[in-house]
Amino acid sequence: MMMIPKNRKASFYIGMTCPGCGGELQLEDDFFVTSCPHCGSIFRIELPDLPPAYLIQAKVNKPEARFGINKYLKENNLPLTNSSLQLKQLYYPFWKIDAVLLRYRKKKYEAIVVEESRYNQEVSYEREREEISLSPYMNTISAGNYFEGIPPSLGLRAEYIKMEPYSSDNIQEDFDTLPVGKQWEDIRKNILNKVELIDNIDQNELGSNKTRIFYPKASIVYFPYFIFESYTNGGFHRYIVDGVSGRMVNHLSHLDDTDHSSFDNPQIKFGSLRVSAHRCPTCGEDLPAVKSFVYICRNCDTFISLEKNSLLEEQVFITESPSNKNDKMFPFWAFKISETDSKYLKNMFGGIYSSDYLIVPAFKMPNFNAMYRLTKRISSAFPHLKLKNSEKWGHRFYWVNVSLTDAMMYAEIFIQREKYAKAKGDDITTFDPQEVKLFFAPFRPENYFYVDSVLNAITFEKNLIP
Ligand SMILES: [Zn+2]
Ligand SMILES: [Zn+2]
Repeated sequence: MMMIPKNRKASFYIGMTCPGCGGELQLEDDFFVTSCPHCGSIFRIELPDLPPAYLIQAKVNKPEARFGINKYLKENNLPLTNSSLQLKQLYYPFWKIDAVLLRYRKKKYEAIVVEESRYNQEVSYEREREEISLSPYMNTISAGNYFEGIPPSLGLRAEYIKMEPYSSDNIQEDFDTLPVGKQWEDIRKNILNKVELIDNIDQNELGSNKTRIFYPKASIVYFPYFIFESYTNGGFHRYIVDGVSGRMVNHLSHLDDTDHSSFDNPQIKFGSLRVSAHRCPTCGEDLPAVKSFVYICRNCDTFISLEKNSLLEEQVFITESPSNKNDKMFPFWAFKISETDSKYLKNMFGGIYSSDYLIVPAFKMPNFNAMYRLTKRISSAFPHLKLKNSEKWGHRFYWVNVSLTDAMMYAEIFIQREKYAKAKGDDITTFDPQEVKLFFAPFRPENYFYVDSVLNAITFEKNLIP
């Protein structure tokens, strides 16, 4: 069983201010359309091309942080701090990485079968089983210049932590911000190496374990620390307190004198999140407060895609054949693919497949395997579907809640999975479609399934749609 990761952000959420009423908006993952709980205005959040920077404000104050140190000292029978403590309050930068992790494992297992022809003798066979899983991957890695005692990662947090866009307004009094000293490109390589390491540790006799990271997204998160230092009581002490939990994370009684100053401070530019009104760019009509990556304006029929992609044909297609009254129109991304990719696809779909398109559902399905199966079925059937342009957003249209970017990621994962399963080499070729279009196909509910109304051949389980 494979589940599509629902929430990539684990314990982080983003707090922003509503431009309409000034109230607080709380945003979670896949948050691009949101309505303000205070004034009801509808907004869309635009993510920048550059990694955005966030700041986490300290939740504890100076006395509370100091209390954390004394608690630790008491528990360890050490002398308590005195008034000579010097305090620094810092926001220390971390790279936060969110991605999708694909794990492919081939395992051998023993199957015992009773064979009648052998006088009911039990016979044992060795069989192979494939396990494929997709899971969210989230990691934080120190991004600042070396500061002894600050943890290399934020680790797994039990708290639900609010991140605010990084801006001078959000910096608390007496806090300094340390610069980012590590480039995203280096961090990315480091993560990819680590993932490869997992493969080596996990290797089994079939030698076909694969772990891959897809679409790592990066942001910078400034995290608050209280740094207390003293030079009395017979020596040096540095205590580092986590500014959110108030827990002491490190106690140093001497500093490593290795020179860590080799970092040059690269000039790192950040992007910022933009909140904009969720309206038609042509006529200003409000768009529906529904998460969809594509709309057709009900007022002026403008095609609106929230993702900018030069491969995308800026119109919506539907199948030519008439649909029935009870049909639901489900959206699909149709990728015209290169010859290289179509070779893999022939392999993947077998003899019946003869198309240069790969079709991926543009609506969310909770189960990755179901999505994969539907991709296979509809891609094979696609040459038999005739499409025409649709100028209106039909009332039976399902929302496009799988983005083009994510659909491309799934396409890549499906192809990659096929390569592993058929041992056709594991070289990563990025999925490189030539063109993309969005089309809707009619499906009617029947018992436990949706069945397509054009060919009566493409099905998927009804319970996969909420
Ligand atoms: Zn508001
Ligand atoms: Zn319009």
